[in-house]
Amino acid sequence: MLAADALAGRVAIVTGGGTGLGRAIAVELARAGASIGIVSRDPEHRRRGVEAVQEIGGRAMDVGCDVREADQVEHAFASVAEVLGAPSILINNAAANFPVLASAMSPNAWRAVNRIVVDGTFFCSQQLHRHAVDTGLDGSIVNIVATQSFTGGPGMAHAAAAKAAVVNLTKSLAVEWAPDGIRVNAIAPGLFPHEEMREDLKALRTEGADVDARRSPAGRLGQRREIGWAATWLSSPFASFITGHTLVVDGANWLRRDFVMPEFTPIAEQLSAALRPTP
Ligand code: NAP
Repeated sequence: MLAADALAGRVAIVTGGGTGLGRAIAVELARAGASIGIVSRDPEHRRRGVEAVQEIGGRAMDVGCDVREADQVEHAFASVAEVLGAPSILINNAAANFPVLASAMSPNAWRAVNRIVVDGTFFCSQQLHRHAVDTGLDGSIVNIVATQSFTGGPGMAHAAAAKAAVVNLTKSLAVEWAPDGIRVNAIAPGLFPHEEMREDLKALRTEGADVDARRSPAGRLGQRREIGWAATWLSSPFASFITGHTLVVDGANWLRRDFVMPEFTPIAEQLSAALRPTP
């Protein structure tokens, strides 16, 4: 999308950069010249991310890290800095999500999602700030959130609440860190299906991609590289005065309201129909 040297000499860390949207973002950042650090827990995921970047001629390394743990995050950033140079771009993409009724949600499920999304985003952002400021670099953080941040997420209350917290954090950090030359923005993707999505999330889309597409004002679903383009642009000098902003990339789907809405089906009925085991 941008000139091949738009991010030349920059080092970008993408959390969860081995799968789905994170991998697409890593590839698009590399196309613009950034070296990429893929940070996540599963070595097989990370290998796929590194390979995808290398396939387009980019430079990438990976580090094992659970973003919930501040000491692991500190180690991951130090490892990337040692091999690739000081990171000045961070994509907080790592997340977890699964459908569950709020009334049935275990404390562990609630905490796990909130710790990955809220704690992980904060710990990684602090590290990016430290490395960029210590080396005198301007920095960019892009938090991948969801339109549930604005609407709530019935059936996914844990993830929706966590993403809403990150939209809020985006604004606080944008103001605190603007004097340090660190911009902080967010992207709220619409539905971007991919093969690595959890089966229970796939099951919520019961009628196939063509029906999903007709349900969107744009008449189609998102393509992963479109999130990569948005993240690359927000991380680039072409967005140099944009900070504290959440950019929705969803073909106007979350704004949709019909004159006559479909009858309301309680969330418990919707989930039990979607997640009922097939005979
Ligand atoms: P995904 O394929 O499930 O990717 C999640 C990534 O997060 C995985 O690579 C995973 O890597 C990493 N991760 C999870 N827990 C982690 C932890 N504790 N520490 C480090 N890494 C961790 O999801 P996706 O669909 O690509 O979504 C990417 C982002 O977009 C997420 O923030 C999601 O909420 C957001 N989003 C996606 C959609 C969509 O339609 N796809 C829509 C709205 C928002 P490991 O397993 O290797 O740790």
